Amino acid sequence: MANLQHRLPENVPGDFFVDSTCIDCDTCSQLAPKIFRDHGDQCSVYRQPETSEETKLALMALVACPTGSIGATRKHDAHLGIDAFPMRLADGVYFCGFTSESSFGGWSYLVTRSASAGGNFLVDSPRFATQLVKRIGPMGGIKRMFLTHKDDIADHQLFRQKFGCDRTMHAADGARRLGVEQVLEGEEPFEVDAELLAIPTPGHTRGHVVFLYRKKFLFTGDHLAWSPARQTLTAFRSVAWYSWPEQIRSMEKLLSYDFEWVLPGHGDLRHLVAPLMRKHLEHCIAWMKTR
Ligand code: SF4
Repeated sequence: MANLQHRLPENVPGDFFVDSTCIDCDTCSQLAPKIFRDHGDQCSVYRQPETSEETKLALMALVACPTGSIGATRKHDAHLGIDAFPMRLADGVYFCGFTSESSFGGWSYLVTRSASAGGNFLVDSPRFATQLVKRIGPMGGIKRMFLTHKDDIADHQLFRQKFGCDRTMHAADGARRLGVEQVLEGEEPFEVDAELLAIPTPGHTRGHVVFLYRKKFLFTGDHLAWSPARQTLTAFRSVAWYSWPEQIRSMEKLLSYDFEWVLPGHGDLRHLVAPLMRKHLEHCIAWMKTR
């Protein structure tokens, strides 16, 4: 729970606030950009909610915050925020909310589909929060879990125990040590099933993998995201822990695929028509080569 005594001075006066425990993951400013902003190395409230919809978004940010750094001085119905997750992004594709501090607030996604198509899956792991788990159950549970890389695995073992889901991850990011059931190797794309392709993208980490679903949704982990400031696709040079040149090479591999959605662990998500997304990808690669 956020502590009013530690309310950051950058917050505007009023009900909602961020305290000094904020780790600057940007989840709140991405979810409710009219309320929260990154003021430097932390986030704060720059405008208090004025409508019931804005209050709901602030409560969703409060629930999604990995460190419990968002608070309110007035009493609210917490279920307005809790019950909003998983949050629908497109047919059968949801943002889980409930981010985990161990993943530095990385976003994870739930995809629902029929058992005959392969069943529901998670991409990366949210916090194992009872409220979230209770909501995923009636949505069909979790059959598979796809881990993009070692930084965003959070509570994967608890989800495995609860739902019996098999996990998929690349060997070069420690999949065997973690006891993952399906271990990917090498750099060749791997067809998980008829709808899902795993594409190894070393760069951010050595064993980073992105997952392409229905040739439309690209779950990008920490490989690729949308930059709201530059209004184009971007990658993060400062956290290319393994190799920036390798990450550029991995990015070029993605030119072989069409997709409409970029759904990252960190950074903003984006939906565009495929030809426009491709143009942004080409622009991103050119930009990366100048970094
Ligand atoms: S979601 Fe929480 S930790 Fe992340 S930036 Fe906002 S207040 Fe900080």
